[in-house]
Amino acid sequence: WCSTARLYTEDDPLEILSSSSLKPTVTNSSSAWLVQFYSSWCGHCIQYSSTWKALAQDVKDWQQALSVAVLDCAQEENFDVCKEFSIKFYPTFKYFRAHSPETERGTIYRGADREIQSVRQLMVNILQNHTKLEWPNHCPPLQPYSSVQILPLLGQRSDHYTAVIIEEPESYVGREVILDLLQYSGVEVRRALSSDLPLLDALKITAFPSIYLLHPNGSHTHLHVQKKLRFFFSSLLRTLPGVQRRSKSSSSSSSSDGQMVALQDKHSTEPWRDFDRSQVYSADLDSALHYLLRVELATHNTLEGEELQIFKDFVTLVAKLYPGGGSVVKLMETLSDWLLSLPLQRIPYQAVLDLVDNKMRISGVFLGAELRWVGCQGSRAGLRGYPCSLWTLFHVLTVQHDAMPTALDNTALEGDAAAVLHVMRRYIRTFFGCEQCGRHFEAAAAASLETVQSREQQIIWLWNQHNTVNLRLAGSLSDDPLFPKAPWPSPSLCASCHEEKNGVHVWNQENVLLFLRRHFGASNLSPKYSL
Ligand code: FAD
Repeated sequence: WCSTARLYTEDDPLEILSSSSLKPTVTNSSSAWLVQFYSSWCGHCIQYSSTWKALAQDVKDWQQALSVAVLDCAQEENFDVCKEFSIKFYPTFKYFRAHSPETERGTIYRGADREIQSVRQLMVNILQNHTKLEWPNHCPPLQPYSSVQILPLLGQRSDHYTAVIIEEPESYVGREVILDLLQYSGVEVRRALSSDLPLLDALKITAFPSIYLLHPNGSHTHLHVQKKLRFFFSSLLRTLPGVQRRSKSSSSSSSSDGQMVALQDKHSTEPWRDFDRSQVYSADLDSALHYLLRVELATHNTLEGEELQIFKDFVTLVAKLYPGGGSVVKLMETLSDWLLSLPLQRIPYQAVLDLVDNKMRISGVFLGAELRWVGCQGSRAGLRGYPCSLWTLFHVLTVQHDAMPTALDNTALEGDAAAVLHVMRRYIRTFFGCEQCGRHFEAAAAASLETVQSREQQIIWLWNQHNTVNLRLAGSLSDDPLFPKAPWPSPSLCASCHEEKNGVHVWNQENVLLFLRRHFGASNLSPKYSL
């Protein structure tokens, strides 16, 4: 058995079962299970694995009600258990109701190897097949509510929002949104049917699906959603004020989260700065450079060899591409000229710090002498801050590189369409204080950075990579409840970036590119709160 041939790895958002874990996992469980028994030599199973992974990602937040798993019957240690569970063909899909007894061998579902949308709907049906006694512990009610149950709630105060999705009887959107919000506190989602005329009358609903929101203070409104799609409904509810993802327990968080939290600076005593999520703030970019130059790099006593080269390239990149042409650019240009004029192979880092401080004193060229987070503020100390600003800085640089194609001419980076990513990769690998983050980023770069051949692709690659990190970290220790990690940009920032294909959320990359160019472009940079 060759481990590189495994179809599923620990990084996939599903449970990999084995002969010893199958029964303890799927029986006596508080959630239901949908298990694919596959064989790693079966061609169809190999082809289908990408769909199964995409499905598992799509329903990751449903896990407490229904979890997705795989078991490889081609592994010798699993031969007996596959026989015991009567697996004759691959793939075989079996589901196990919540609270099944140990003797349960699962119910075969034929035809699960279909498109994501139909398997997802099957999962909803599996849940609704539970009796009251078997009902998964954390699964909210999925049956429709009637006007008799809903109308008395109007005008009542509560400690949470109640969202009512009114839809046609055959629609799955309401049930899918209920399950999408399973991991979130502060909102309860209910569904009601378009056939409930007293409800439609009272709420003045005429189109389906619609979403009606009961606020904690007793007020209630019909919510406007740009597109009547599951993703839009779920995103909207997840971003209501006070709605929060329930954090995973600290024991299940990866060690890199711990590292990340430790890396971030303390800024709890700072006053809150109101800001607009559709803007980028130069105060965040300045603070990123301040932290990078005065804290992160200052832990290195000397720079030489590859480290010195990376530092020089980073300074060149910022000097040439930093938008606005203000004092930060002047400082970086001075630093760049000084570094290039040095005949030394090795410089003490104190010399860089002296230059930064002297330059500021003599010419007034200024790099904020303190951290001042705005769009990167965290709701408490240790959240967001520097890593947020570093992502933002590199997104801005990719967009600037695209907007000013000749800016890097006559530098060591001339002619490289992925210059920003190449410098970022080397910087993160060598200097970024969160080592685990660096290892993840390096693995992603090694896997696909070569495919980036244009400055447009450079913008998209970084956006895509950042979203991969967001997905991995959603609900982890470093997730700020006020800024939960989610696919970005949200529908409220860019509705045209989102579409649905065969019932599955997809990005409209052309519109994403347009959005990124505008969002991270020089004209969207706000000087508010800058010194
Ligand atoms: P961030 O993810 O830092 O995002 C900052 C801002 O960028 C957001 O507020 C939003 O406005 C915008 N944004 C969000 N998504 C995108 C996108 N897809 N494209 C463009 N803009 C976007 N932490 C770990 O625990 N483990 C890791 O492996 C890890 N790897 C990292 C790798 C790198 C290169 C960096 C810079 C950071 C890494 N971090 C990692 C830190 C983590 O990604 C966050 O930066 C940190 O937790 C702060 O999160 P945040 O809520 O401020 O949002």
